[in-house]
Amino acid sequence: MIDFNPSMPFVSMSQHALLRMFVWLRYNALVVVDFHTHIFPPWVRERRDEYIRRDACFALLYSSAKAKLVTAEELIASMDDSGVDCSVVLNIGWTGQELCRETNDYILDSVSRYPDRLVGFCGVQPRAGDAAVRELERCVLAGAKGVGEMRSDVQRFDLADEVLMKPLVDFAVEHDIIFLTHASEPVGHEYVGKGNITPGVLYSLIKAFPYLKLVCAHWGGGLPFYALMPEVAKALDNVFFDTAATNFLYQAQIFKQVSDIVGSGKILFGSDYPLISQGRIMAQVHSLDISQEDKGKILGENAQTLLSGAGGGRNAI
Ligand SMILES: [Zn+2]
Repeated sequence: MIDFNPSMPFVSMSQHALLRMFVWLRYNALVVVDFHTHIFPPWVRERRDEYIRRDACFALLYSSAKAKLVTAEELIASMDDSGVDCSVVLNIGWTGQELCRETNDYILDSVSRYPDRLVGFCGVQPRAGDAAVRELERCVLAGAKGVGEMRSDVQRFDLADEVLMKPLVDFAVEHDIIFLTHASEPVGHEYVGKGNITPGVLYSLIKAFPYLKLVCAHWGGGLPFYALMPEVAKALDNVFFDTAATNFLYQAQIFKQVSDIVGSGKILFGSDYPLISQGRIMAQVHSLDISQEDKGKILGENAQTLLSGAGGGRNAI
């Protein structure tokens, strides 16, 4: 790394030093990646009641008028306000394959309009069989880097069902595609959308498909704590955890605790925007009593590494 002192006044810097500074900024400046955001097409927001009637997952998450729906443009504005360079835009676990496809189109279109700012993950209904695999293939060809946010509980399938999941997982592994699943705690308070994708369910998936790159949302419902068991730690080789909705679930010390158990290299900053403002959780991470190195990894470096090879196509970061 080039040693650059940011307090050095520009006026006294030689051209050479200025050049060194720009190189430093280009290659060492922190890139912030929000790994967990949701966007929807404007027509879904306008006809919200119709989509609530049509789909159980959408109904679960968005029946309350307080649950905000935002478009790609609103996400970009939030990123600009909060200092987020790149966001992973997730779909949801629509129960019907045709609604997955309709909303995947919007995500793919948004990524094509903001290729430097957004990375797209698509939704699939694994029970659709071949149609789900073809949809994943279509999305990956159009630039998608992952599948998610999967909701096996609401979409009514078994994440560890090897017959059902193998074709999707095989395609994902072959193309370095990442799966991201919702997760929740088996204990504690109830909340809208909590569901029952608990550490035991995630562990069955991880054991069935150890080569799959998997992101368990919301700190994996507490799965990292079981990594104090050596066999669990070993099984988590290809598993990552996002921090989405931390403020609603855990004390801030979870960042340090999980870093100590599984390593900061497995933690991906995610907000769950628009459920939580991106600025709020970024401020939380910046205020943590952990090293700058760990903050850098959590806020963006881990995501960059994970996404860099995904899909083999264009990359926003
Ligand atoms: Zn979730």
